[in-house]
Amino acid sequence: QIKRESKNGWRHYVPGMSQEAHAHLLLTSGLKGALSHDEFRLHYQPQIDLASGEVRCLEALLRWFPAGGEVVSPERFIPEAEASGLIVPIGQWVLDTACAQLAVWRKSGFPNLRVTVNVSPVQLARPEFVETVQSALNLAGLEASALELELTERGMLADLPAVQEQFRALRALGVQIALDDFGAGESNLGRLFQLPFDVLKLDRKLIATLDEQQEARRFLHALQVFASSLDLEVVAEGIETPGQLEVVRELGYHRGQGYLLGRPAARWPPPDADQRQEVDH
Ligand code: C2E
Ligand code: MG
Ligand code: MG
Ligand code: MG
Repeated sequence: QIKRESKNGWRHYVPGMSQEAHAHLLLTSGLKGALSHDEFRLHYQPQIDLASGEVRCLEALLRWFPAGGEVVSPERFIPEAEASGLIVPIGQWVLDTACAQLAVWRKSGFPNLRVTVNVSPVQLARPEFVETVQSALNLAGLEASALELELTERGMLADLPAVQEQFRALRALGVQIALDDFGAGESNLGRLFQLPFDVLKLDRKLIATLDEQQEARRFLHALQVFASSLDLEVVAEGIETPGQLEVVRELGYHRGQGYLLGRPAARWPPPDADQRQEVDH
């Protein structure tokens, strides 16, 4: 039997309710107040220019710190936030906060730094999404080229014409658009590439094949050729070993990201550059 007191004193108790359903209920009721209770934080993970070794941009990664609880991973709460529609105000907070943070970095000695923000298909489907992006840039006093949006293929092909229209508007604004987690889904390539992406982010599972498969290097080379012929910048995600870094650099990938190069952290630059732990507040 499950019987637990939640932080706002409500007793969520339904006889026979599964543990899973109960956890789900706690999650959604907690998420509702999370914005007003200031329980979200952004952590930032660097993307390195592989040719120069410089930090080119930082990816904003959302963390939820519910009062009195442990940090909750976005993989757990984003699906709930999407199902309830809460992802729309949460996503706006992410855009505003990441842009404001970038403006601070740019003023403190990193004038060319950029930021990338993950966007849910639920946000993209909102007609006012482009205005939300414009407003985040305006509030922070940034030009649009400072911002890159990361989208996964999930949910993008359902209403292709509508998504194409949003892409057109975003590109007219001047933000860049990255296809995130490429190679991890069930790509309908012919339709996917009817969308004008600027950047292709190869999923870390593809990078991991370098340790497992003889042919992986040739395959990653073929993907680099494929991306170049479409004028896409290529980003390798999930670089964890020096061997992987060496290969993607040799193959001419533009940017690299992964624990080897820097973990997501609340602060950037990290107070101690050697301290590569995930730093919580
Ligand atoms: P993602 O956008 O593909 O982000 C990369 C994820 O891989 C992050 O997990 C990051 O911490 C992790 N990662 C980075 N380098 C390595 C590595 O070398 N090895 C391994 N094993 N993992 C690495 P995280 O922060 O838990 O985020 C998970 C996903 O949640 C993100 O995947 C993204 O899809 C989603 N997400 C995060 N923040 C937001 C947000 O603000 N809005 C939306 N809509 N989704 C978000
Ligand atoms: Mg991402
Ligand atoms: Mg990814
Ligand atoms: Mg992912």
